[in-house]
Amino acid sequence: MSFEYAPAPESRAVVDIKPSYGLFVGGEMVDPVDGGSFKTVSPATEEVLAEVAVAGPADVDRAVKAARSAYERTWSTMPPRERGKYLFRIARLVQERARELAVLESLDNGKPIRESRDVDIPLVAAHFFYHAGWADKLAYAGMGPDPRPLGVAAQVIPWNFPLLMLAWKIAPALAAGNTVVLKPAETTPLTALLFAEICGQADLPPGVVNILTGMGETGRALVEHPDVDKVAFTGSTAVGKAIARSVAGTRKKATLELGGKAANVVFDDAPIDQAVEGIVNGIFFNQGHVCCAGSRLLVQESVADALLDSLKRRLATLRMGDPLDKNTDIGAINSAEQLRKIRDLSDVGEAEGAERWSAACDLPSKGFWFPPTLFTGVSQAHRIAREEIFGPVLSVLTFRTPAEAVEKANNTPFGLSAGVWTEKGSRILWMANRLRAGVVWANTFNRFDPTSPFGGYKESGYGREGGRHGLSAYLEASDEQPRTTQPAGRGGAQ
Ligand code: NAD
Repeated sequence: MSFEYAPAPESRAVVDIKPSYGLFVGGEMVDPVDGGSFKTVSPATEEVLAEVAVAGPADVDRAVKAARSAYERTWSTMPPRERGKYLFRIARLVQERARELAVLESLDNGKPIRESRDVDIPLVAAHFFYHAGWADKLAYAGMGPDPRPLGVAAQVIPWNFPLLMLAWKIAPALAAGNTVVLKPAETTPLTALLFAEICGQADLPPGVVNILTGMGETGRALVEHPDVDKVAFTGSTAVGKAIARSVAGTRKKATLELGGKAANVVFDDAPIDQAVEGIVNGIFFNQGHVCCAGSRLLVQESVADALLDSLKRRLATLRMGDPLDKNTDIGAINSAEQLRKIRDLSDVGEAEGAERWSAACDLPSKGFWFPPTLFTGVSQAHRIAREEIFGPVLSVLTFRTPAEAVEKANNTPFGLSAGVWTEKGSRILWMANRLRAGVVWANTFNRFDPTSPFGGYKESGYGREGGRHGLSAYLEASDEQPRTTQPAGRGGAQ
């Protein structure tokens, strides 16, 4: 049974969206030299929110020069503790402006305010706080006694966690002494542009952070710019592969965080109600626009029927609608294009013989919407079991033995995350040792922490973000040996 709730919309008045935005280069908002502009819309209503600049190649060059100059003149030469102070300041400003950032994120992305307010923005602040603490402790990052920054980082991010992905990129880069040029995704540029304002408020030296809005072409020009030292990309596997090819043979270091098709494995001894919550959180959080989403449910055959009944009952209570309503569980699909991809792959699922079930719900007449959906009767060969749908669609498969669960879970070109639900600690460890995934969650799913490295195997990319491992992706090991007192005449280079 579900309850009726009165609408509880979060006020939009807290955000001040300008009619148009330029590019953030060298500490100022500037008009593009050779680009155009595009409109960013609210995916829940299709309302145009703002006109945003497209950076062309000359703008990319100008931003990389600004980052290079800031790197050489101020950021890399500044005492590390001073760098840390700026990061602490940014973290505090994010907390102070949290409500504004959350509302803007929900408007531009379509995600429920409950998630942007309680998950995205607090994690953004946590990433800046965590990395602020690292700035003057780099000698303990495991990269030698005096690790060096790499230089200018080109960073390209997707639209599913716009400000959080920005934080994952910018916080470690800055803490390690690099400067950055970041390109947000074309459908969600607004919180990155508000972040530019926060950089100004924090008195961050000009050019340390540069934000270029634009399409894929802007991203390509940025990662291919010859004066970039480091490329950090989060997005689709197809674009990640193209970037890997473009940096091969250059001096650029690259980290790629790509797609996923995670298995969420439920054993017959798992607490069913908790597992149901974990499955819902695993695939319906953020409309399933999550690279590590638990999009393949592997359930032990003996409990499959009971679990699915319970899951369907739970899905029928999820509230879909206005992202700014505090009672909303499922918001809008981020774009018309993404909605088309989700629809297409779901139709393929049916055509290939899987059985489709969706919770009954009224879809708003405007905007981009897709109801929480699950497929049963899915085989490993089905495209909905192999390809990333990146939407609120769960493919359900069954298994009989732990060995079969491992085999099915690992039968994917991806390897980003996995979940295990069982009451036995020994089984959790047994599974974790065998699952080929960067993160394995036990009796939980989609939990993130800045101290914990995150990243994948195989087609999910390479490199880690978060923790000491993520920091080291922005540092060069020092070849200098730890200083020891050598008796005269001994130990010199021979
Ligand atoms: P996408 O690869 O199309 O776009 C991501 C970003 O790359 C955007 O900013 C886009 O403008 C830019 N881009 C596009 N073409 C480019 C090019 N040739 N060179 C440089 N930049 C280019 O991905 P998407 O569809 O927007 O995002 C969804 C994908 O991102 C999913 O596959 C998802 O799994 C993945 N993702 C992965 C993670 C992770 O941490 N592993 C996190 C979020 C999303």
